[in-house]
Formats: sequence, C-alpha cells, structure tokens
Amino acid sequence: MARIGASPASVLRRRARELREAGRPIIELSSGNLDFPTPEHVVAAAHAAARRGDTRYTDVDGTPELKDAVCAALDRHNGLTYARDEVLISSGSTQALFNALLATLAPDDEVVVPAPYWAPYLDQVRLTGGTPVIVPCPQNNGFKLRPADFDAAITPRTRWLILNNPVNPSGAVYSRAELADIAGVLLRHPDVWILCDGLYEHIVFDGLRASTLVEVEPRLKARTLIVSGIAKTYAMMGWRIGYAAGPAALIRAMINIQSQTTSCPSSISQAAACAALDGPQDVVRERTSVLQTRRDLLVDTINGCDGLSCQPPEGTFYLLVSCAGAIGKRSPDGRAIRTDRDFAAYLLEHADLAVVAGEDFGLSPYIRVSFANPPEILEEAGRRLKRACAALKGAN
Ligand code: PMP
Repeated sequence: MARIGASPASVLRRRARELREAGRPIIELSSGNLDFPTPEHVVAAAHAAARRGDTRYTDVDGTPELKDAVCAALDRHNGLTYARDEVLISSGSTQALFNALLATLAPDDEVVVPAPYWAPYLDQVRLTGGTPVIVPCPQNNGFKLRPADFDAAITPRTRWLILNNPVNPSGAVYSRAELADIAGVLLRHPDVWILCDGLYEHIVFDGLRASTLVEVEPRLKARTLIVSGIAKTYAMMGWRIGYAAGPAALIRAMINIQSQTTSCPSSISQAAACAALDGPQDVVRERTSVLQTRRDLLVDTINGCDGLSCQPPEGTFYLLVSCAGAIGKRSPDGRAIRTDRDFAAYLLEHADLAVVAGEDFGLSPYIRVSFANPPEILEEAGRRLKRACAALKGAN
C-alpha cells in the first residue's frame, strides 16, 4: 500500500465538496464529471430493464447484448472486428485497465507511460507489482510521445505501452501519421504490448478524428488491448460501465480476475449502455460542438490572464494551462508561489476555483482546467482567474 495513494481527482473532489458545505462558492474546474445529463432514452432503457426484472447477476464478462453492442460500435467507429470472446464488460474502464495489468505484470515488469498522464495508470501499475517508466512529452511536441523517446525507454522488461488518445489531461489528439511512427517503434519490439485507452475518442474538435493504433497498424492487433467506455461519450460517469477488446486469452484472464473481485457489472447499467451504444448518436455530436464553443471561450479568457497561456486542445474537455508566468510570484498575503501545486492551492483558497496541479499528471508547471461546466459558470470562473492572476505580486 505504501506504493500508491488516493487518486488526486478524488482527493480534490472531496476537498471542494467540504469547502462548498462550509459555505464557499467553489467552482470546480477540476472535474471529469460532465455537466450534461445522461440522454433521456438511455435513462428510459434503464427503467425498463429494472421493471422487466433485469435485476439478477449477468455473465461475469457482461451480457451478450452489450458485448454485441460494443463489437458493433468498434466496427462502426474504428472499422475493427472483434468477437464476443474478445470483449469484456467491466464496472468502468478503470476496472478493465486494472484487470489487464493484474493479469499480465510480474514484479519489476515495466510499463511505459507518456507524461502528462492520467494519474491512476501509475498507481495501478505499482499496485499490480510493476514499475511505471515515465516518458516526458513536453509542450513543444504538443504533449505527445516522440517515437525516439519511446524507443529509448524500452528495455527487456517492458511489457506495455499505455497510449491514451485523446489525452487526458492535455486534450492532445494523435494524428494517423504520429500513430504510424509509434507503430514503427512497436514493430521493432515484438514483446511490447499496447494498451490503447480511448475513453475520450468521441470528444474531438475541429472535424478531427481520434484513431486507435491498431486501425493504423493492423499487425499490432494480436498484442493490443483497447480499453474504453461510455462515461464521457454519453455523460454516464456514474453508471460505471467500461469495456476492453483484445486477444481472447488475455480477455479470459481478465474475466477470471473480475469473477473473483467484483463479478458482473450492474445489470441495469449494462441495459442502459446498450441503449447508448445502439441508439441515436446525434447527441454526441451536438454536445461535442457545445464543448468546442466552451473551449474557445475559455482559451481566450485564459490567454488574457497574467502569467497563464494555453493552446486550444483538439479533444477531451480539459485545457492544460502553463502557469510558468505565475511561478516565483507572491500571493497578496505574501505566500510564495513556487510550484503549480502552490498556484492551484492559491486559486482554491483565494479565488474559490478548484483546478488540478500539473504535478498530478507528471508535468509541471501546469494546471488542468476542465470545461465541463455551463458557459455562465465558465465566465464567472474566467473573471475570478483573471483577478487572481492580476493580484499576484512580483516578477519571475
Ligand atoms: N481513462 C482516462 C484517460 C480517464 O480520464 C478516465 C476517467 N476520468 C478513465 C480512464 C476511467 O473512466 P471510467 O472508469 O469512468 O470508465
């Protein structure tokens, strides 16, 4: 247990709630919770499932209906063919990831994780006995993994590359050409497997499309595990349904782990997920365009704040904002801002704004700002951010 901590997001969520309960008007720019409701037809499907008695355990690896819906979605969206025995339904993609790592990692096995990263990758690798090997992906490469850096990180102990596309927290989207370059490295290292996390694959802006590595290089399919879910695409974070698609032998091992830990995911949530995947998809497009408008509003506001700068992300609903210009300054009550964590703490205490420090994603000095909030809240957040930055004293 000494190797891991609580996820930074959950710690911050709790702190923001405590402050709000104490009467503070906290705005959460830290959240991975979209403010949109789950689409009505999905909620109706869940009601119907409960009423007709879909209230029993299902198969551990999910209902055949939901597996078929996942296979159809992978075919429709990614042009990839998977059979039922190559798919596992889990209680969130978090669980699917954990099953995969627990099934495959021996002590001292290494997992390459590009930074900035979603923090649980590191803790899950450590918890299952492995060692994360972090590869920094600086802003001047769009926060993306460079093939040469990846190559240099590979050792005889490397078991996995975890590739998240689009990337939480930077919103970067790998192009097909960039994926092909990474695939080139992988083809030279046949023992390295690939874990493709596509949780945000449908939240992509400016007419772009997020591909998975196997679409670009089909020869990698036999050693690729796709992990994804419905949480962000359909605003169903709390329904806890995720899935994995990959080689049947790996899926079987993951099913055994799941059968001994949580057993099947919620039957009602599985029925809801079927309705989401099989139903009309216009809602996804409409919401993505709403998010793009919010992104543009927030990018302009942030670039107008002293000491902050950011590029518009190509996907997700996060902005990774450089706060390099705030580091070295002092708050009005004289406290030094030495790190992005100090800056995030300053925003929480003095501006009632919750943001996540870049340190939690393995890259500093940044803060992650989520635009999963209605425009009026984002406008108020922008005003507070501007005031808070202007109130800092002293040059770098
Ligand atoms: N991967 C990434 C990159 C995420 O940001 C998250 C959640 N924020 C997850 C996986 C896990 O999502 P869930 O368990 O809700 O499917």
